[in-house]
Amino acid sequence: MTLTQVRPDQAPPASAVAPRRLVPRRHPRASSPLIRDGIGMATWLSLLVVVGLWVAGGGVQDLTGWGSGLTSIGRLTGLLSSDLLLIQVLLMARIPVVEQAYGQDELAGRHRLVGFTSFNLMVAHLVLISAGYAATAGINPFVQFWEMVVDYPGMLLATAGTGFLILVTVTSIRKARKRLRYESWHLLHLYAYLGVGLAIPHQLWTGQEFLASPVAAIYWWTLWIAAAGAVLVWRLGLPLYRTLRHDLRVSAVVRESPDIISVWMRGRDLDRLPVASGQFFTWRFLTGPGWTRGHPYSLSAAPTGDTLRITVKDLGDGSRALAEVPVGTRVAIEGPYGRLHAGARSRPKVTLMGSGIGITPLRAILEDLPQRPGDVTVIYRASTEHDLVLTRELEQLATQRGARLFHVVGPRVAGRDSWLPQQAVHLSDADALRQLVPDIADQDVYLCGADGWMASARTAALSCGVPSSRIHLERFTW
Ligand SMILES: Cc1cc2nc3c(=O)[nH]c(=O)nc-3n(C[C@H](O)[C@H](O)[C@H](O)COP(=O)(O)OP(=O)(O)OC[C@H]3O[C@@H](n4cnc5c(N)ncnc54)[C@H](O)[C@@H]3O)c2cc1C
Repeated sequence: MTLTQVRPDQAPPASAVAPRRLVPRRHPRASSPLIRDGIGMATWLSLLVVVGLWVAGGGVQDLTGWGSGLTSIGRLTGLLSSDLLLIQVLLMARIPVVEQAYGQDELAGRHRLVGFTSFNLMVAHLVLISAGYAATAGINPFVQFWEMVVDYPGMLLATAGTGFLILVTVTSIRKARKRLRYESWHLLHLYAYLGVGLAIPHQLWTGQEFLASPVAAIYWWTLWIAAAGAVLVWRLGLPLYRTLRHDLRVSAVVRESPDIISVWMRGRDLDRLPVASGQFFTWRFLTGPGWTRGHPYSLSAAPTGDTLRITVKDLGDGSRALAEVPVGTRVAIEGPYGRLHAGARSRPKVTLMGSGIGITPLRAILEDLPQRPGDVTVIYRASTEHDLVLTRELEQLATQRGARLFHVVGPRVAGRDSWLPQQAVHLSDADALRQLVPDIADQDVYLCGADGWMASARTAALSCGVPSSRIHLERFTW
């Protein structure tokens, strides 16, 4: 296997890392598992409250008749659907405590699950309510459905909202999503907010629970205001405030290799920006019409009092365009986000495992993670020597900080999921990791790279005895 440990006598000249003033920062703290449990319980509790309100509103008594029974179950599915819809909005509102508890990759997964469940319940609501009213009135369900849409208050808006939600859900089915450009899909996805805004108010005008019970009215109003408030504060207000407050501008664009560039940015009072190495922002470079497309990139150098840096691989039109961004361009930021930071550490010794462009956040962590010589091991996996980036910096930082740095270079192992290159096919994934880091079981492991590679590296770490709570990772795809 091509495992190169870079030794101090091979270290590059000091010029590879420009002298930079790192300011002491308070590292974000790792979120307690109790917070995750609390958020999960709150979700279930909210569903329980909704069922309770339905029961209190006579939902069970209505089950005795055919028509009233269908209508009653239809009401319940509608209420549960609305509840999950608002919970979704809360999940994706970038509320810091929620973001730190789950991380955006896991949140995106939960959002998907909650979203599809909510959608299915909404469809059940439409069918059951139409069938129930039709059975009671003794008319055709399709005629009944049409009458409801045109005659009942708020229903035209609700129909339009449902249309938007159908659009968002259909384009989120994996097959359809793969056919769309990420930006087009994301833009369509924003129509979900419009869908929620239009679909839910009919509950206010026609919903039995809502009209009959002050407790129900208080519950729903609180949930709606919380969801709308969270979006206004954390998705719009805070990013706008931080963008204006720190006034970031591109100060240099440096080509690191034919397909990789680094963008340096200068800004005001960046020591006040609560960001840590390993975290990422969604960046918008305000060069013109393309500013609406934000892209997530991790910091590739520890933040200083006045500079931030990202390192970007050309993987599509957005990342390619960055090479042409003029110096002086204003930059809007959303974040910082991400749980891959020093606060997640629970052991003195740490192994940083990165592959490809996934090395960027680990490079930043290596730079300012408090450490004694020998505490940190960096394992950097790439397909070819040519694919290694920021190598001179990494080598110099490893020397300065007393960290061990391994390059693990070579094509993938054929026929088996593995974090190793083909040359190491004779080793098991765990044995190879133990060879490089004999005391890995007593360390924290930070992972960043391609999804499949990270899954293999995580499995290897688990097999070596590292508990999952000590494996911290950032996915570059959601
Ligand atoms: C948390 C995180 C940190 C990242 N850090 C880095 C980094 O430090 N360096 C680096 O080179 N790359 C990083 N990426 C990947 C980078 O965001 C994508 O490569 C880039 O957005 C691609 O955009 P594009 O227009 O060039 O390509 P496109 O062809 O438009 O997109 C290619 C793929 O990138 C993903 N993508 C595009 N836009 C977004 C978006 N706004 N949000 C989430 N995913 C998106 C989608 O999976 C898409 O299919 C990171 C991604 C994430 C999620």
